[in-house]
Amino acid sequence: MARLSHQDWLDRAARLRPVTVHHIDGADHAGDGDTFTVIAPRDGRPLAEPARAGQREVDLAVAAARRAFDTGVWPRLAPAERGRALIRFADAIEAHREELALTVALEMGKPVTEAYDIELRAVAACFRWYGEVADKLIDEAPQTGPDALALVTREPVGVVAAVVPWNFPLTMAAWKVAPALAAGCTVVLKPAEQSPLSALRLGRLGAEAGLPPGVFNVVAGEGPTAGRALGLHPDVDVLAFTGSTAVGRHFLRYAADSNLKRVWLELGGKSPNIVLPDADPIAAAASAAWGVFFNQGEMCTAPSRLLVHSSIAEHVTDAVLERARALRIGDPLDPATTMGALVSAAHLARVRAHIAGAQAAGARLRTGGERVDRPGHFLEPTVFDRVAPDMALAREEVFGPVLAVLTFDTEDEAIRLANATEYGLAAGVWTTNLSAAHRISRSVRAGTVWVNCYEEGGLNVPFGGMKQSGHGRDKSLHALEKYTDPKTTWIRL
Ligand code: NDP
Repeated sequence: MARLSHQDWLDRAARLRPVTVHHIDGADHAGDGDTFTVIAPRDGRPLAEPARAGQREVDLAVAAARRAFDTGVWPRLAPAERGRALIRFADAIEAHREELALTVALEMGKPVTEAYDIELRAVAACFRWYGEVADKLIDEAPQTGPDALALVTREPVGVVAAVVPWNFPLTMAAWKVAPALAAGCTVVLKPAEQSPLSALRLGRLGAEAGLPPGVFNVVAGEGPTAGRALGLHPDVDVLAFTGSTAVGRHFLRYAADSNLKRVWLELGGKSPNIVLPDADPIAAAASAAWGVFFNQGEMCTAPSRLLVHSSIAEHVTDAVLERARALRIGDPLDPATTMGALVSAAHLARVRAHIAGAQAAGARLRTGGERVDRPGHFLEPTVFDRVAPDMALAREEVFGPVLAVLTFDTEDEAIRLANATEYGLAAGVWTTNLSAAHRISRSVRAGTVWVNCYEEGGLNVPFGGMKQSGHGRDKSLHALEKYTDPKTTWIRL
């Protein structure tokens, strides 16, 4: 596609008519007339009034998914047919890539070029990958005695509810929906209240691509009502959640208070990025700055704690500051923008409270910290050094463009600092010493460790957390384990 200009995107935004109705049982569903307002982060103005799901809409969506599962229309389809349907879905996403990227940028504030180049590419690729995998799974026939045969078959778990956040609204959805559908499950997706529009469009696209009614349903609504109703629903078999650790706890409670549904949790992070004295300081700084400011810092894996050896701390920090100051904050629809708007006024206020708290605690503000003087929810990229390990900024997830620089003198101290958090999602290590890289990688409790890189990823590589960053893995064949149960059948010969 020829690159669109700022004006091209503005024209397309003016023409966009977002989908504002639920997608239930293969059709639009307007709900009972109750709506809520989605505010555009780029200007703080109302963007759309989608239908608001309550218990009734959740019941309808779960009943549709239950029917599509129990009648076998999806789980008993030949796996190759299911795979073909997912590949058609991927094709439809690619065909609507521009519209979906624009919708994401408008509803949650990231630069539209990043939505187009990164998020939508990942979403289409995810549906395609699981479509291609659907008929390549092989069950087991363990060796048994001569008089019996044992079969271990992978059975879809049933109705999956996926509750996802706003920072990568479609990627987080795809990571759950695609493997669940490939496994033969049916799905009800609830996007975040800040970013329902892209997900509602996705629901309709699934039907246009030929998914049978009820197989993939989307309901827009708020967490404490629609999310809770899914968490407590007796007909939901598995709840796949991505979001904050606090809300993850709610889902475990909902499961305990209802049908003991299995709950998979992908939660927050406070990821350490460790720079040893022998590392390439410029490469480490460039990656650190990119990682913590990408997507406005609204990244679960953001390397928000830069742990740098004291001998090179000043050098590395200066290089990070240079990159932070070079970022171009602006309209997410302008292709020249490299940092967009934070998702909401409330979130901007939360991030600013973290900044004020760090200043009050005695951390040194090196750059940023201020709201950008324009309509919308824009914040300067912010770097603190002299952050002490016991400060809130070193422990709590900010989920915004705020970097905490801490120093260490020994490898053991670096590992201790890296692990001094309740989270365990990701970590980075920068060194040319292979042994040190291995030692640190093994010692840091994190689901992913990147050595001399950050945010490398592939669909065939699992992603997920340890400790209070959650459990279970998205992506790769491991994700199918979340949506299938091994069933053993013994046959007497
Ligand atoms: P939240 O946990 O606030 O919300 C996530 C989802 O849960 C939303 O759909 C939300 O609905 C819903 N929800 C909120 N409250 C409840 C409730 N009481 N009962 C049921 N559902 C509820 O997270 P954010 O959307 O603010 O996203 C940021 C968080 O997500 C960060 O902590 C980040 O680290 C994490 N995250 C983790 C990732 C990972 O892979 N580990 C990836 C991306 C983000 P609504 O918004 O409509 O109220």
